[in-house]
Amino acid sequence: MVSFKINAKKFKKSGTRGYNQKLPTVKSDTLKRENQNSIRRNFVNSYPEHSLVQYISHEFQDEIYMYREYKNKLQSSITEMDRRSKDLFKKPTSIAICIPNTVVVPSDAAVDEEKIVLTIRLYNDELIPIYDATADISIEILDPDNDILRPHAEDYTDKDGTYKVYFIAPKPGKYTAHVLVNGKCINTAGYKFSALGQYSYNKRKHSFRSSPRLYTGDMPSRSFSRMTTGMLSSMSSPRISALMSSRSAKSDDILYRGTPRTFKGVVATKPPSRLTVLDESLQDAPIYSARDQLNMENFSPQKYSETITERNLLYNDVNCISIAFDAAVSHPSIEVSRDSLTMALKSTKQIYGSTPGKTGTRRLRLFPGTIGTRSFNKPGLFYWEISIKFKILRLIRRTVLFEIGLARNDVIDKSFRNDRSPFAWVVSGSGCHLCGKVCLHGWHNGQMLSHHPFSDRIPLSIRSYSKLHYGCLLDTSKRHWIVVDLKSRKVVAHFKNLVVSPTEAPLWPVFGIYNPEQTHITMEIFYGSDVSRIPEEALDVLSI
Ligand SMILES: [Zn+2]
Repeated sequence: MVSFKINAKKFKKSGTRGYNQKLPTVKSDTLKRENQNSIRRNFVNSYPEHSLVQYISHEFQDEIYMYREYKNKLQSSITEMDRRSKDLFKKPTSIAICIPNTVVVPSDAAVDEEKIVLTIRLYNDELIPIYDATADISIEILDPDNDILRPHAEDYTDKDGTYKVYFIAPKPGKYTAHVLVNGKCINTAGYKFSALGQYSYNKRKHSFRSSPRLYTGDMPSRSFSRMTTGMLSSMSSPRISALMSSRSAKSDDILYRGTPRTFKGVVATKPPSRLTVLDESLQDAPIYSARDQLNMENFSPQKYSETITERNLLYNDVNCISIAFDAAVSHPSIEVSRDSLTMALKSTKQIYGSTPGKTGTRRLRLFPGTIGTRSFNKPGLFYWEISIKFKILRLIRRTVLFEIGLARNDVIDKSFRNDRSPFAWVVSGSGCHLCGKVCLHGWHNGQMLSHHPFSDRIPLSIRSYSKLHYGCLLDTSKRHWIVVDLKSRKVVAHFKNLVVSPTEAPLWPVFGIYNPEQTHITMEIFYGSDVSRIPEEALDVLSI
């Protein structure tokens, strides 16, 4: 009996705790919230652990379904946002330049030294910078006399995303730059900057560098103010300025010695080298006496041409016409030898210092060069040669070394260079961004028409000069001008459709030398009996 009782109890107990019991059917939509809670409580009490999961999944199946739906939707929208943001940062949604968004930062220039005066950054309409745009950027700079200069904007978009404008200010004063992107002016008021003389530029740079010290606070203000005043007074002391002026007077030197060419009739023998480039150590030695200088100033082209007309030499149809550098109109920076056959830049300090081209005189004011002693507009074939001795002193970036060309009188001296004029045809030696060398470029009306490398951009040797020798053949009937490199015997420039005829204004030869900071250049002209032969390469081009 006893054993039965125990068994019955056990049975009863195990029966109430059994898991096989059928779950009560619960319908969430028909039950009220309070009932639901009490049922849940009872259920959890009577069915612990995994039955709870069963209950919840049963009870909340709608909610779980909705949650899963919601999670999927959320996931897909996150992926979509992710994709969009990646696209956004990878490449701009629009690569079109938004011209009003262009940012231009002007900075001050220094007289006769190459400086970055404008930094230009292009953006699209979403203010995302554009790095690979091949924008057409042109710059016009108004100098203090309101003459227009047109430097190039250099493409640095692959390096820091900007275009930079290097500029050599011809004179001190206030300048205004206008920036045109794809022909549209960004800011009609322009960007203003000033050009300072070398001395004041360095001074200002110095004071800029020292000014942040004022705010660091790690220095007692009294000692600082003493230091500044001491510094300033030493900078502006008469001793310094006297030193400066004496130095510039000392560097009043001439780079070459010209021995006059003697008339030798039509005998085609070359005179011994007329150009002796002096060592830098000898530059202080005076070569020209004051009287020579005076004679050079009073040089008369008419008188000169009378004495040299006999030296015209005809090779078949080609006239090796008498031509020389006109010393009477040369820019104050240019030194023309006594025989008018050699020209060079004066030393840096002299150039833009005290004698800028005065208005009213015949001297060139902007174009650092001179004009030939004769012009062309009558029909014929004319030939002359130019030899250029050069030495690179510093890395050439896009610096211009020299310019040789033909231009109408009314366009000469409108700018520092003649390469942008519709009435000028020039070849210029300059640092080239296309091949990283120094190249001879053919230019007309702002377009580069030819491109031939001739030197590395870095100084090769301090002592040695390199030499270029070009033959110029002008056909005023066919209106062609051909430039031949006489060393390599290659045509390096071929200009067609020159505006030249007896009814048009004549074309004058122009010769420019630039940037004495970076190069030493002397230019020499050969004509008449100094020409040994006309290069066939040039004649071949003409006969085609
Ligand atoms: Zn090049």
